[in-house]
Amino acid sequence: MQSALLVVQGLGLLALLTIAFSVVHGMSWRREVRHAVLGVCFGVGAVMAMMQPITVASGVIVDTRNLFIGFAGAFIGPIGAVFALIVGATARIVIGGSGLALGLTSMVMVSVIGTLWGLNRLRPPVMTPLLCVFMGLSFSLTLLLGLAVLRGPALQNYLPIIPFILLFNIGGSVIFGLLFERERRSARRERQLQKDAQLDPLTAAYNRRGLDKLYSDVMYMDEHFGRGLLLIDLDHFKKVNDTCGHAFGDEVLRAATKAIQSSVRAGDVVARIGGEEFVVLLPDLTKDAARRIGERIRTAINTAAGVEGITITASVGASFWEHGGRSLEAALKAADGSMYEAKRQGRDRMVFPDTEPR
Ligand code: GH3
Ligand code: MG
Ligand code: MG
Repeated sequence: MQSALLVVQGLGLLALLTIAFSVVHGMSWRREVRHAVLGVCFGVGAVMAMMQPITVASGVIVDTRNLFIGFAGAFIGPIGAVFALIVGATARIVIGGSGLALGLTSMVMVSVIGTLWGLNRLRPPVMTPLLCVFMGLSFSLTLLLGLAVLRGPALQNYLPIIPFILLFNIGGSVIFGLLFERERRSARRERQLQKDAQLDPLTAAYNRRGLDKLYSDVMYMDEHFGRGLLLIDLDHFKKVNDTCGHAFGDEVLRAATKAIQSSVRAGDVVARIGGEEFVVLLPDLTKDAARRIGERIRTAINTAAGVEGITITASVGASFWEHGGRSLEAALKAADGSMYEAKRQGRDRMVFPDTEPR
């Protein structure tokens, strides 16, 4: 009865981890950070399992620590496995006592086995219950370590725990393997949806929502030089659509996006904010550099986007400021004024303001 209660407690621990797994997976942190945090959580789970071992016969105790360490590799990946192992192994060393070497070796072994299950190349596309059984069995390979090294009374004490470890590993793998798998899928889907919501489906550049979000990330950082924003509007685009068809127009928009993207630096942001209107964010650069990038974009659109005797031109309006922050609205307004001026002067050109309104 006592043992049954402890099993339920062990399962409760895993259930808590499932919740942590789903919460952390849903965060928009960097992937490595998410994996490290989850690894620590699983490591803590392993430590808690060690601290509430289950007595299966007098003097014979088992715990489910290896299940946590194995899961970390299988469901988080190598980073998670390493962090879980560090936490689990440190606790095991602090606890000390007999069987330290055997305990640590089996932790490392299950960590490697779990990581193999989680590797992109080896990971089964769908985790079925049968595969979970195999995973639990593979975690149980650590039992062979004890059989290989223990002798005499130590071995006599070890044998009774084997069926329990098998039961925990297989049962735990099936129940929680399927749960973790479901959480992982739904978190991935959620992140993908969030990402898609910031992208323009036609060109895969950022859309207005993406621009709004990235503006504060990119343009309010500490900088040495200034910041620029370019507003690019294709010239007489209505005529392109009218003469060559909408599908051709779409093709031109995609080509123009590629031309812009290949003319900017790695950290610059390219967004399509209207039909044939693009915005480029240029953090941390001099006015001359911003001017050069603007000209490069204009020429690239000329050469890349036109085909079969049709030349596509663009009017570029710039906004550049050296000190302090400027809201996206203010920067867009200034660039829009420059762009309008470029259209007025006859299109196919860039207008770069000499003095910026504050
Ligand atoms: P201007 O030189 O003054 O900018 O002239 P324009 O014709 O480019 O300006 P206007 O804003 O009047 O027209 C923009 C056109 O862009 C209107 C619309 O047919 C076209 N457009 C908007 N979105 C799309 C799209 O997703 N695909 C295609 N093919 N055309 C689009
Ligand atoms: Mg327009
Ligand atoms: Mg236009």
